[in-house]
Amino acid sequence: LKLPNRTFHGHPRLLSSDVYSQYESIRQGKQEIPKYFNFASDVLDKWSEIEKAGKRPSNPAFWWINGEGEEVKWSFEELGFLSRKVANVLTKECGLQKGDKLILILPRIPEWWLVKVACMRAGIVVIPGTSQLSAKDILYRLQASKAACIITTGKLAPAVDSVASQCQLLKTKLMVSKGSREGWQNFTELYQNQSADHSCIKTRIQDPMMIFFTSGTTGSPKMTQHSQGSLGFRPLLSERYWLDLTPSQIIWNTADTGWILTSIASFFDPWVFGSCIFIHNLPQTDSEVILNTLCRFPIDALVGAPTLFRMLVQNDLSKYKFMSLKYCMSGGEPLNPEVMEQWKSHTGLDIHEVYGQTEMGVICSVSKGMKIKPGSMGKAAPLYDVQIIDKNANILPPGQQGEIAIRSKPIRPLGFFSEYLDNPKKTAESERGDFYVTGDRGTMDEEGYFQFIGRDDDIIISSGYRIGPFEVESALIEHPAVVETAVVSSPDPLRGEVVKAFVVLSPTFSSTDLKSLTRDLQDHVKKTTAPYKYPRKVEFVKELPKTVTGKIKRNELRDKEWGRI
Ligand code: ATP
Ligand code: MG
Repeated sequence: LKLPNRTFHGHPRLLSSDVYSQYESIRQGKQEIPKYFNFASDVLDKWSEIEKAGKRPSNPAFWWINGEGEEVKWSFEELGFLSRKVANVLTKECGLQKGDKLILILPRIPEWWLVKVACMRAGIVVIPGTSQLSAKDILYRLQASKAACIITTGKLAPAVDSVASQCQLLKTKLMVSKGSREGWQNFTELYQNQSADHSCIKTRIQDPMMIFFTSGTTGSPKMTQHSQGSLGFRPLLSERYWLDLTPSQIIWNTADTGWILTSIASFFDPWVFGSCIFIHNLPQTDSEVILNTLCRFPIDALVGAPTLFRMLVQNDLSKYKFMSLKYCMSGGEPLNPEVMEQWKSHTGLDIHEVYGQTEMGVICSVSKGMKIKPGSMGKAAPLYDVQIIDKNANILPPGQQGEIAIRSKPIRPLGFFSEYLDNPKKTAESERGDFYVTGDRGTMDEEGYFQFIGRDDDIIISSGYRIGPFEVESALIEHPAVVETAVVSSPDPLRGEVVKAFVVLSPTFSSTDLKSLTRDLQDHVKKTTAPYKYPRKVEFVKELPKTVTGKIKRNELRDKEWGRI
């Protein structure tokens, strides 16, 4: 394996040609936000020029591997060259125009990055989706978005075909795969023969750039529209708040391509800093493969959902010596303090928490150098005034529980989604007074650190007490028998509802007497949290229901408890 040459003369932060530093006067408020912005021409092509001038370390911009020894490395220039070819495929071969929508369902393969950049060049709105979508999910997305084009793999093509007749607006189907299929064009063949002459389209900063379907943890996924500004320009303004990478560093995020986290952590934010995006095309999350990859490649930063870290700490971590890893981040769900401690005690590394939403991107984070308070998701991200509010949109003082909200008036800060597409009702419901409400409950302490309590609809109200599932789950997971757990409300004739825990047992406890283990777990929770929070009911399960992004579907467990499904 040939490692990139990472020698670099001079401190990258001091580079006057650094793309990020070119926006200093806007960050200081001395200059206005530009009217036009396009991530491809204003960030990627700029890095390409810097690279050509020999002012960027010889770190690839993109570095991809799979488990079968294949490897792809692109500089910013190569990324530019190839993505221009793809832009020509989309506009010339497929006849797509600015504003048209394209559904992109690919696993973590390099083409995903090429298509995204190409769409920006051509002003096409990208709608990413995960490869785990079923035919029904694809139909829902095609119909709701009115997409004109879909790009997917040969494996998913039959699923698309089974519903395509119900999608009149779908004009073009492109397949990234070796074979051929009737009604489909072969992406790879088309783009290899294209010219690389393409001039990037001019886009206004508020022009739509991407549409994400939310995870659908509660209800059906909502179409969340983001602009060039909200995703591409925001990281240029937000200081180095959550990533703080240099052009010689490498970041690996293990999230699926369908999720906004991948667009943030494996696309916009690292490339703003000119850093290298590393991808391992893992068919499934295998903790040994992940740990070995961290030992074999000079990865500086690792990003994943809490499930990733929960899985990794199940291994004997003393067997692994990471090559360069210094910075770990977890987001998408609350991270249990116990997992954080275990990871730290075995690797010496902290896990920095990030809290965000499809709608808002990163809302809070524990940035580099910030004091870590286990169980807290850090402070408000720059540009966002995050507060805890009550039902009437009054700001609550530190320590009081309420809804996590972000000030949206008089000025809607850069970073906010534009709207839930075709759903003005949902868009309106997300506003309260001067705030956008996240639908999550939490508290803020005197130092401005936020603590997550739970999704509004996950809160359990038992004998008048409000109990957030996360605190109970975090207490349970401290017990050596518990690998993973989900806590929900369950009906009770006396108390209305009680706390119930679904527990995935560690294999070493599989032959334990479950009755006494239940009592053990209950006592443990009583000792570590307020006793009224202990789970009166405990059920042992093999696995927990999760969304494709790996989030625990508490609503599914709750609905079963209440006989709603
Ligand atoms: P839907 O809105 O369709 O139900 P979803 O809310 O799960 O789906 P996402 O936008 O992917 O879709 O997830 C955002 C939510 O994830 C947040 O509102 C919050 O509940 C949760 N979340 C994200 N990061 C964290 C974190 N660090 N700690 C706690 N919760 C988090
Ligand atoms: Mg949501």
